[in-house]
Amino acid sequence: MKSNIDKAEADITTHYKNPYEIVQELLQESIQTLGLNENIYHILKKPMRVLEVSIPIRLDNGRIHNFTGYRSQHLDILGPTKGGIRFHPDVNMDEVKALSIWMSLKSAILDLPLGGGKGGIIVDPSALSKRELETLSRAYIEKITPIIGPQKDIPAPDMNTSPEVMGWMIDEYDKLRGYNIPGMLTGKPVIIGGSQGRLAATGRGVAITIQEAANVLGMEMNGATAALQGFGNVGSMTAKFLHGLGVKITGITNAHGGIFDQDGLDIPDLLKFIKKGNRIHTYPKAAPLTNEDLFGLPVDILIPAAVENQITKNTAPAIQAKIVAEAANGPTTPQGDEIMEQKDIFVIPDILCNAGGVTVSYFEWVQNAMNYYWKEEEVNQKLTEKMTAGFQQVLAIREQKQMRMRQAAYTAGIRHIVKALHARGWIENEKTLEG
Ligand code: NAD
Repeated sequence: MKSNIDKAEADITTHYKNPYEIVQELLQESIQTLGLNENIYHILKKPMRVLEVSIPIRLDNGRIHNFTGYRSQHLDILGPTKGGIRFHPDVNMDEVKALSIWMSLKSAILDLPLGGGKGGIIVDPSALSKRELETLSRAYIEKITPIIGPQKDIPAPDMNTSPEVMGWMIDEYDKLRGYNIPGMLTGKPVIIGGSQGRLAATGRGVAITIQEAANVLGMEMNGATAALQGFGNVGSMTAKFLHGLGVKITGITNAHGGIFDQDGLDIPDLLKFIKKGNRIHTYPKAAPLTNEDLFGLPVDILIPAAVENQITKNTAPAIQAKIVAEAANGPTTPQGDEIMEQKDIFVIPDILCNAGGVTVSYFEWVQNAMNYYWKEEEVNQKLTEKMTAGFQQVLAIREQKQMRMRQAAYTAGIRHIVKALHARGWIENEKTLEG
């Protein structure tokens, strides 16, 4: 008989759209639009290194299950590669490759001295005991140790990987190396070298970009309405900050269902409810809501903060929001994007919208190198400066070139990388990228 873990692996979605092809198409289109040499596309289209590892683990029932993990490193010309580790049944090599390319672009837009990396394990962590999860986390790090390190590639959390998981991982790495190397990984618990503000950083950054977009559209945040898909780290923190700005969040869904309240959900109360270990769809003070219905809610702001391929040709036609803030990586398919363009929706693209996480991860790495730690206000202040500057840069390109925000974000990221390629002598005679 198949275990839940086998089923999760066998279940890898049949209707999956490949994000690696999507990011390659977007790169090619942007490089053509910028009038750059196609050699640049050939450099950027693939990660420089991808590792696949097998991770045999003894389960609590005595059986060995051999998990598959990956680590992709896109480009290290601006600094070590950096990016999260995802535990999810849908993880696959093309997904981590795509996510590592997006990480390169994100760091470039925010002017961080880093390249893009990403990793993952094909696993449904909810099917594992805590001991099994810890064993798997430690074994994964052991397998990828030869290619990671504070000057090579610096992992971080992503879907289903918490500070606790990061704590196990760095402990394993330190044991293998024989001394403590806190800058090898970010998103750690604060007590062992994590940064203040890291846990909330991605959501805080999402809220900052939404505020900036609202300014562009002349929309008041106080009293605006929003709907949110995903209530994990990014979704819950985004909800908390938007609620603090007076935004009424009327609908939230996750993998198990959702909730709706026309008058706005009581976010602090909901956060307390979730912290007690309850599932969102069991929250008693709201009506039920499905993922399909979430996209068509009459709200000003829609925030996909879960998985890829949610705004599609099927869901996009119903969208009523004026702003779509892509807190998740790759939540929109090309067809979904086209429909949003026709509807003149202001899209804050993922590579800008969710860059707050890598920004504070960068701050954590800097603090680890100095062995000197900043107060939370200082971290938040620096994050606001970086996110605002990134947004304004992309907005300026959008206005100057009459492009959409996504194309403008790709342009900003590619320009930055091309300058580094030029400075290192990889390419010659590239036309000036200013203007
Ligand atoms: P998480 O594991 O904490 O939460 C994921 C949420 O998505 C959960 O609420 C889950 O129920 C929901 N979800 C999963 N599958 C779903 C489905 N099919 N339909 C609806 N909801 C679904 O993960 P996270 O760290 O919050 O990451 C969410 C997204 O943000 C991912 O795309 C991730 O790559 C991106 N991201 C995360 C960070 C970070 O710092 N954690 C940084 C940048 C980008």
